[in-house]
Amino acid sequence: MTTATVAPALRYRFYRARVLAARRIGASLIRVTFGGEELADFAGGGRDQSVSLFLPHPGQPEPVLPLDAGEDWYAHWRAADPAVRAVMRSYTISGQRPERSEVDIDFVHHGETGPASRWAGRARPGDRVVLLGPAVADNRSVCFRPPPGTEHVLLAADETALPAAAGILAWLPAGTTVRAWLEVPSAADIRELPTRASAELRWLVRGSTPPGGGPLVEAVRAARLPAGIPYAWIAGESATVRAVRRHLVAERGLDRRRVTFAGYWRRGVSEEELRDASAGAG
Ligand SMILES: Cc1cc2nc3c(=O)[nH]c(=O)nc-3n(C[C@H](O)[C@H](O)[C@H](O)COP(=O)(O)OP(=O)(O)OC[C@H]3O[C@@H](n4cnc5c(N)ncnc54)[C@H](O)[C@@H]3O)c2cc1C
Repeated sequence: MTTATVAPALRYRFYRARVLAARRIGASLIRVTFGGEELADFAGGGRDQSVSLFLPHPGQPEPVLPLDAGEDWYAHWRAADPAVRAVMRSYTISGQRPERSEVDIDFVHHGETGPASRWAGRARPGDRVVLLGPAVADNRSVCFRPPPGTEHVLLAADETALPAAAGILAWLPAGTTVRAWLEVPSAADIRELPTRASAELRWLVRGSTPPGGGPLVEAVRAARLPAGIPYAWIAGESATVRAVRRHLVAERGLDRRRVTFAGYWRRGVSEEELRDASAGAG
């Protein structure tokens, strides 16, 4: 690793960007391609690289953000009127082409219930956003990090974590054994996920069962896991993620240090409310 001496604060920066294109990929996801000269410096680490995305409110020409406040930006943003300050949401970089100053984000379109979903459903070329993203490829927003000695990889994801699972599969080298469970709302979300790894993908179509229900947990419970030392990565709806992790650690005896898990969203709770709750708890 050559980045150990880079101060954490320098690992991220703001990137101003514009929508170049938006298109459906499958029944539930919309791929938005962003461009802008600042993105030539975007240095994502691949895998499940995530960013904070800042969106304007309806009627605003661009997201309202204290871009000149340096490291104090968050305090300034928090102090601003929520009806005016940019909407902040977490998303995965599903593609990056620095040579063309482009990145892609795949948004689950879950209707009009959240500002990011609503925004993605209406995204048009020229729409302006800001990303807070990596300035170096080795950054803490890449969470998929198999420890030394890993003999096989287990992935469990719902549709919000499908871009991350796809990024992980694309990154894994040949010879890695992977077992993946991918829960999606519709059979029309199933697509090819290119990988050099020896991957066995199991798609679970949720249909009319509400998200956060059981298909992912049930499938992992029912599975025969490969022999050898595993590394598990679990992401998606919080309750599901917790249940899968609990099963792997408590019932299958996986070493908890070999399990990376992330609640990407929680049923009935917005990202703002989740952030406020964890700030209150901290
Ligand atoms: C590290 C990280 C990476 C992520 N990457 C992606 C990604 O690449 N693509 C992606 O689509 N999402 C991703 N997410 C999840 C995304 O941030 C949340 O789904 C977010 O809540 C969407 O914001 P919103 O404004 O649409 O809804 P919010 O305003 O946050 O929530 C409004 C309501 O919608 C519900 N809701 C939120 N998301 C969903 C959903 N997917 N399906 C059904 N109901 C929902 C909430 O429970 C709430 O009731 C990621 C999250 C994290 C933490």
